[in-house]
Amino acid sequence: MDYLAGLNREQRAAVEQTEGPVMIIAGAGSGKTRVITFRVAHLINKGVDAFNILVLTFTNKAAKEMRERINNLVGPDAKNIWMGTFHSVFAKILRVEADKIGYPNNFTIYDTDDSKSVLRAILKEMNLDDKLYNANFVYNRISAAKNNLVSWMDYQQNAQIQADDFSSGRGHLGKVYENYAKRCFRAGAMDFDDLLFKTNELLRDHADVLNKYQHKFKYLMVDEYQDTNFSQYLIVKKLAAVNENLCVVGDDAQSIYAFRGANIQNILNFEKDYPDLKVFKLEQNYRSTQNIVNVANSIIANNKEQLKKNVFSEKETGDKIKVIRAFSDNEEGKIIAEEIMQRRTTNGLKWNDFAILYRTNAQSRSMEEGLRKLNIPYKIYGGLSFYQRKEIKDLIAYFRLTFNPNDEEALKRVINYPKRGIGDTTVDKIILAADKNQITPWEVILAPTQYIDKTPASLANFATMIQSFQVIAKNQLAYDAALHIAQHSGVLKDLYEDKSVEGLNRYENIQELLNGIKEFQEREDIEERGLDVFMQDVALLTNDDNDKNKDADTVSLMTIHSSKGLEFQNVHVVGLEENLFPSQMSLNSRSDLEEERRLFYVAITRAEHKLTISYATSRFKFGTLINCEPSRFLDEIDAKYLELDFTAKPQPSPGSFGNERAAWSRGGGDTFSKPKPASAPVKTTSVLAKAHVPSPDFKPSDTSNLQVGMEVEHERFGFGKVISLEGNKPDVKATIFFKEVGQKQLLLKFAKLHVL
Ligand code: ATP
Ligand code: MG
Repeated sequence: MDYLAGLNREQRAAVEQTEGPVMIIAGAGSGKTRVITFRVAHLINKGVDAFNILVLTFTNKAAKEMRERINNLVGPDAKNIWMGTFHSVFAKILRVEADKIGYPNNFTIYDTDDSKSVLRAILKEMNLDDKLYNANFVYNRISAAKNNLVSWMDYQQNAQIQADDFSSGRGHLGKVYENYAKRCFRAGAMDFDDLLFKTNELLRDHADVLNKYQHKFKYLMVDEYQDTNFSQYLIVKKLAAVNENLCVVGDDAQSIYAFRGANIQNILNFEKDYPDLKVFKLEQNYRSTQNIVNVANSIIANNKEQLKKNVFSEKETGDKIKVIRAFSDNEEGKIIAEEIMQRRTTNGLKWNDFAILYRTNAQSRSMEEGLRKLNIPYKIYGGLSFYQRKEIKDLIAYFRLTFNPNDEEALKRVINYPKRGIGDTTVDKIILAADKNQITPWEVILAPTQYIDKTPASLANFATMIQSFQVIAKNQLAYDAALHIAQHSGVLKDLYEDKSVEGLNRYENIQELLNGIKEFQEREDIEERGLDVFMQDVALLTNDDNDKNKDADTVSLMTIHSSKGLEFQNVHVVGLEENLFPSQMSLNSRSDLEEERRLFYVAITRAEHKLTISYATSRFKFGTLINCEPSRFLDEIDAKYLELDFTAKPQPSPGSFGNERAAWSRGGGDTFSKPKPASAPVKTTSVLAKAHVPSPDFKPSDTSNLQVGMEVEHERFGFGKVISLEGNKPDVKATIFFKEVGQKQLLLKFAKLHVL
């Protein structure tokens, strides 16, 4: 078949090996995702029913793109394939099966904000110290437990967990977890982790359900397998247990979600789980130039924990990797915007050909500023989702309450919005009474006099209103019902009356939401067009999924985490500074640092043609200007692949530095290894104010006989004494204590030292 001609020998073998367990662990850009796409097309061409295929992707966007491609290869059958993220696929299954585990089928999905709000309420009720029991911390702790399939009961009975909690002064965590789980259950709500945790429960306790899906999904494929956690691993294993037609693809070097419980063990277990496993190796990178691939290889070689791979490219050698030094974050944004502008014109490119990748969302600000000044259109991916905006969440809370009045978080959001005379005291009383009687707040509202004193009449009106919405939603199509609710709840009027710019904006957002629902209502490819169907997965949508302007020509901005699997002709990786990338949090352990390095590897390997890396020597952080040192990752790249652009000149401005410090340079400059204690206060101007002026007789000397105790002069750091020497020639590193700037570690072959 001619489409198989678009694959190399090994890829083709993996595509044709449709039966039995298959694993492909291969480097970036080697065609893993392409193999999955072609494999699905191949299965359909062989006559496998599209309904029997399940593909788990990393984002909804990836699923959509894959579906389009398969559609091009095999036609409209593609739309029947089950394809999506773990969360969206299993939410869909739970919608059908939830009643078997005691949930209503119209269960609510709590997003992270909802979950934290429930936790805060519980922590307050339990009177727990909010420093020890910070809601974020508790949320992560419960999330980790769920991802390892530890229920609240297991949690309380596990001696090791209990000992750990007690020794850190958090002995009540088990009880918090219990209350949280019960509260969510009562509210008919599942949080994100529950979508997997409860799926496991369902498949574990209901053999008929397991059997049904085992026979439905005759062929399973998982992309980005290295980032699955234990809970996901087990779901896949169970579903594949009958047919064992399971194909997983991934790259251990791109595993970047250990903090969310992803476990490299899942890859290693695979061989044990399936002794007759077929393993395919893909070594050729089709995405990037040789220089880019070589740089990526040289970076990842610094990690101790990795499966050995040989990745090569047969594309052109390509340009060297450009390293830009800027003197501030704003300047970094400005230089990059200018670069993009210039490259686009000179090479006849589109804005779409460029991406800017950063470690943390906060870095987008200076990039945006630079782009805006030059009128360059851009789009930020993975930012605050449209559905996370307050006004949208408010209206959606009305919808949620309509379908599931037990949804406590939705109730709290709108019971007195717009204001209808149900004060905080009344709300508190309702919640307390509900908790005391082990019922839901909605049940209290339906019969308030039984549970609380002084019940305002407005409470009964509120209940009647929600009940009337239930009738409307049942009988009308999505848009008609949504519009009715927006009007009769008072939300639309409230926003319309706010004539401020923000108010106008919020009103427009609501209109936007209603328009989206209208489009949904008018779709011809679905049968059920009620508001309940529209609502099913709203909590799982991100703003990348409903990207209306996906064809718009814009520069893409995103965190490295969200760039996984994507590719761009030109990539800018920004903010290569110690304490930022690698992040400060990662400096305490080798494994965290290795994860940061894998993240850098992911960033670099997004680039097809041109890669640019930049750093700033100062940056605003929490309102103060701090000094930044170039990232250690820069030192790890072999100089022969680099081209340095140090043309930017320091720009004197209040608080900025007249002199450069930490000049990172290659071939004649200095190499600094600088693990700073994570908590060390970052020095500000003092060091820079006194940049060393070399003595008149300063002359870089031969350091091959340097010994501990010797005194030296350094071009910029001034006078110092050698404290220790380590490593073998020609890679000897010297630790030197400089009088003016403190301790530094220098690679002697690059350091300019005058031995006194
Ligand atoms: P990542 O690890 O980043 O997810 P990947 O291994 O999934 O990468 P793909 O995205 O599937 O790699 O492929 C990288 C690029 O190389 C894509 O543009 C793909 O179309 C192209 N490619 C892969 N294999 C071939 C091939 N045999 N012939 C031509 N192009 C190919
Ligand atoms: Mg991929």
